Amino acid sequence: MAAFGTVFMPQMALAQYDNGAWSQTEIVSSNSLTLHPGAHVLHYSSTCFEGLKAFRHADGSVNIFRMDANIERMAQSSQLLNLPAIDKAQLKQMIIDIVARFKDDVPETPGSMYIRPTHIGTEAAIGKAAAPTESSLLYVLLSPVGDYFAGGGKALSLLLEEDGMRCAPHMGMVKSGGNYASALGPILAAKSRHDADQVLFCPNGDVQETGAANFILIDGNEIITKSLDRSFLHGITRDSILTLARDRGMTVSERSLSVDELLERAAKPGTEAALSGTAAVLTPVGTLIRGEQRFSVGSGEAGETTLALRKALNQVQWGESDDPHGWLTPVK
Ligand SMILES: *Cc1c(COP(=O)(O)O)cnc(C)c1O
Repeated sequence: MAAFGTVFMPQMALAQYDNGAWSQTEIVSSNSLTLHPGAHVLHYSSTCFEGLKAFRHADGSVNIFRMDANIERMAQSSQLLNLPAIDKAQLKQMIIDIVARFKDDVPETPGSMYIRPTHIGTEAAIGKAAAPTESSLLYVLLSPVGDYFAGGGKALSLLLEEDGMRCAPHMGMVKSGGNYASALGPILAAKSRHDADQVLFCPNGDVQETGAANFILIDGNEIITKSLDRSFLHGITRDSILTLARDRGMTVSERSLSVDELLERAAKPGTEAALSGTAAVLTPVGTLIRGEQRFSVGSGEAGETTLALRKALNQVQWGESDDPHGWLTPVK
């Protein structure tokens, strides 16, 4: 199967911001985009994106998961980057229209249609290193994706990175390209030097998140995860999992977690850890690496509660259980 995110639907929804106003939405080819080489985004990284999914249910209907939360986050990212303010109602319609157009291409579960809204600064102005772009492009790409867990979904190993950080702390909650470029060096080093799957960034010993997913620790009936602050990405999967955990009567502790406490708890037999994100859903973590030492989390395998929470989330997404929180938007 093609790698995640490498197959695209041939068209996308696009709107342009110019002279203080958004254009009408157009449906255009997704093959290419024309940009001036001096475009603000190419020099000063005025860019943000979102990632969400549409699912095909057994009755044939197509449903988008937590679209409003993703649109809110896109509006916030745009604001924090001083990009033009998006029109939330327009973006919502862009997402619905493009998904409706390719409704027949939405894969059967466990596959889905991955939706990638993107907002970039387009003003040709290389003198604007310290000034915002006056024009921008907003577009919505679609990419059908298969089962992320095909091949078993084995528990991942994470290198604990206590010195560096993923990105500048005031940019952590912005879903912006530069943050991923910033994290790439440490991630590649962890893979080559420590044979780690991912890096768990723990600046000054404070457990934060990986390059593109949030981290949660499960100790018996308690879920522990970092409380929201500006330094990391506020995952919508994180929020969904915490909500489902509360629904099941689990204790949710949103607070700081030190590397020392994490390793102490991980040493207990029943402890579980997982990464949450739209692509990853809830991926088990089996090993933590600190320096040259490797530590198992609980049994070192995928945990029971992790799998139960992942299943509960999938069941809502797939229309196999009720949707008490109103997370799905059907596409006509
Ligand atoms: C997208 C992302 C997440 C997960 O967010 P979801 O809304 O759950 O997909 C977590 N961390 C980072 C850095 C991300 O980019």
